Amino acid sequence: MRRIGIYPGSFDPIHKGHIDIINRATKLVDKLFIAVADSPHKNPLFNLDERKEMIENEFSKNSGIEVIAFNNLLVDLADSLNAQILIRGLRAVSDFEYEFQMLGMNRQLNSKIETVFLMADAQRQSISSNFIKDIARLGGDISNFTNDFVSAKLKEKFK
Ligand code: ADP
Repeated sequence: MRRIGIYPGSFDPIHKGHIDIINRATKLVDKLFIAVADSPHKNPLFNLDERKEMIENEFSKNSGIEVIAFNNLLVDLADSLNAQILIRGLRAVSDFEYEFQMLGMNRQLNSKIETVFLMADAQRQSISSNFIKDIARLGGDISNFTNDFVSAKLKEKFK
């Protein structure tokens, strides 16, 4: 059976924590869809195309990864892609409560999809898109937290 996974998030922008999780997830599935949520309620800094482009740039050499955008129900999207595995990254205890609830709700909506939680390497666990944006806005060095392509895009935004 071909294992198809889906890793959803807002990726505003993608960072080394996400990249770590994606690299781990590709070992578990044959095909991984990185699903970029529109998330207008989160007031993203980058629009959907910009967020997709930054992910595509990082994984352009990996044919097992496809970046897609979505604004519908996650379980419906997973169904339409024949994805059986939902990948989520866990950072700290604070993520657990939200993830626990989301898994419970998603399971009631579609019991065929299994959620797999992965943890990044210790030094990448604390990275978050919001902090990166704050640091970049204030002119700080974000090279430890994301790749050069994204760093350049952030510099451009806050120029
Ligand atoms: P953020 O909170 O950084 O905006 P997203 O909404 O894009 O992240 O998150 C997508 C997924 O990636 C979620 O499952 C989230 O828990 C996970 N994730 C985000 N940052 C990290 C990290 N530093 N380590 C592990 N998982 C992470």
